[in-house]
Amino acid sequence: MSGKRVLVTGGSRGIGRATVLALARSGADVAFTYSSNQASAAEVLAAAEELEGRVIAMQADVVSYEQAKQVVGDVQNELGDLDGLVLNAGITRDGVLAMMPEENWDSVVATNLKGVFNYARAAIYSMIRQHAGRVVCVSSVSGGLMGVAGQTNYGATKAAQIGFVKSLSKEVAAYGITVNAVAPGFIETDIWQSIPAAKRAGLLKSIPQGRLGQPEEVAAAICFLLSEDASYITGSVIEIDGGLCA
Ligand code: NAD
Repeated sequence: MSGKRVLVTGGSRGIGRATVLALARSGADVAFTYSSNQASAAEVLAAAEELEGRVIAMQADVVSYEQAKQVVGDVQNELGDLDGLVLNAGITRDGVLAMMPEENWDSVVATNLKGVFNYARAAIYSMIRQHAGRVVCVSSVSGGLMGVAGQTNYGATKAAQIGFVKSLSKEVAAYGITVNAVAPGFIETDIWQSIPAAKRAGLLKSIPQGRLGQPEEVAAAICFLLSEDASYITGSVIEIDGGLCA
């Protein structure tokens, strides 16, 4: 990935953080956004200090299209035209539908779905102009591959992301741009910790490999999809789930 320039949304923790560090380790210059926790962002910058690629951080809410345009413009000024975009930022607000406050539906849709529109829309034109680019969206096994009770809001957005990826892949294939998704299973991040302990135990038992995935294992698949090696893969979804959906 030496010399490539990649923007990762939500890079201050978990899968986004692991992706930023893997990309910088392989020589890419990386910009990442984060929602509010400056200390976490600073920790990622410190961890990236000795790596080959340059890493910069920008505080921005993925829900705002204005901020997305600003971030993409700033990254282009700072690093140059984007070769890759990782649509990673996402949240859960779990709870059964019968008890779900409207706000928990709206915030998950806004972050997970409008956020994907915002950054893809803000970045795609310059990729079309360059006749090159790689877009990777971090969906989930909850996106139509399996249902998870308590995640009607989250699952709906993750399924919609896959529809978005497949449609966009066809719009931009002729411009040399690939658009793919990864669908992680249960990965050891803050999102996993937010699931109640009793439920976590049951979910863990359902994983054929008998363990959680690590953020680095998702990052490796994202890096592959961003690389030249994945040149003929577009509109695809790679499951990274220890066999959960097999
Ligand atoms: P995490 O909570 O550890 O990190 C989420 C990141 O998104 C953070 O950097 C946070 O700052 C950012 N973010 C959240 N809301 C934002 C907003 N409004 N604007 C800007 N940034 C925002 O989560 P994670 O587990 O690393 O999840 C990353 C992605 O992977 C998400 O899209 C999630 O749905 C998906 N995923 C996670 C798992 C899992 O088990 N952890 C499984 C499948 C899919």
